[in-house]
Amino acid sequence: MTVPNLDLKDGTTIPQLGFGTFQIPPEDTKEAVLTAFETGYRHIDTAQMYGNEKEVGEAIAESGLAREDIFVTTKLNNNNHRPEDVRRSLDESLTKLGLDRVDLFLIHWPMPGEYDGDFPSTWRAMLEARDEGKVISPGVSNFEPHHLDRIVDETGQAPVINQIEVHPYFANNTARDATAKHGALVEAWSPIAQGEILDDETVTAIAGEVDRTTAQVTLRWHVQRGDIIFPKSVTPDRMRSNFAIFDFELSEDQMRRIDGLDRGEDGRRGPNPDEMNVIPD
Ligand code: NDP
Repeated sequence: MTVPNLDLKDGTTIPQLGFGTFQIPPEDTKEAVLTAFETGYRHIDTAQMYGNEKEVGEAIAESGLAREDIFVTTKLNNNNHRPEDVRRSLDESLTKLGLDRVDLFLIHWPMPGEYDGDFPSTWRAMLEARDEGKVISPGVSNFEPHHLDRIVDETGQAPVINQIEVHPYFANNTARDATAKHGALVEAWSPIAQGEILDDETVTAIAGEVDRTTAQVTLRWHVQRGDIIFPKSVTPDRMRSNFAIFDFELSEDQMRRIDGLDRGEDGRRGPNPDEMNVIPD
């Protein structure tokens, strides 16, 4: 199974399918990531907030894979938005991951109600980290259209990626369209709505039509929309079946029926980024 590489506008590429590590406890992370590598995943999504960067790094080191063959993302925690903390915490992340640079470094949340709402200064520090060679591509996560417009207006530079909540119950097309307007790609977090979508009647019917699981159908829907995904699973069979989504296609009619499941704002599972202002201790 070959995972397509998508072109980012800074000239780099990213595997469209990766492996998510949110809520994998540190003690389980090394084994999960090694199993993901064995399955064929080459793109790992972690974050300072997840507390498992060190164990992701141990798996990378133990895998024996060449650095250029893997794509590693981490994210700036909400307590590290000040420019000096961006630099310090990035250095700490690199040490934990055992890398001299990450492929993608994201502002995890814009935090508009903290730091005097000054996320453009945080964005500038991310751009500087790229200029220093510690980050290949800087990007953002959970940025609404007006957050994107603001960093572009104030710095003249758009992110290459916006990682946002997207799944059939929350298609999030407003933020997706704004991301595309800036030439960036969307990464869809919680792509199977943390499992909530898997018993859906429509998705179940389509799964029967194409003889696949409901998780595979949902992940395929994302892929055909052009988004990047990294489902999380600590279950090896699920890791394997989530990876096997490039040998079938959904018809236009099947895509449209899944599009019809969008519940708008009511479908969100996570916080609204304009209201998410929690700084960890
Ligand atoms: P997902 O939508 O990937 O769902 C994960 C859940 O679904 C787990 O409980 C997993 O169980 C279960 N699961 C996975 N595959 C299957 C399957 N084939 N059949 C049945 N159940 C399955 O949720 P996440 O929230 O983890 O999102 C994915 C990734 O997105 C995260 O890991 C993280 O990297 C990123 N993310 C980013 C956020 C942000 O703010 N930027 C916020 C949230 C997530 P089990 O592990 O027990 O197999």
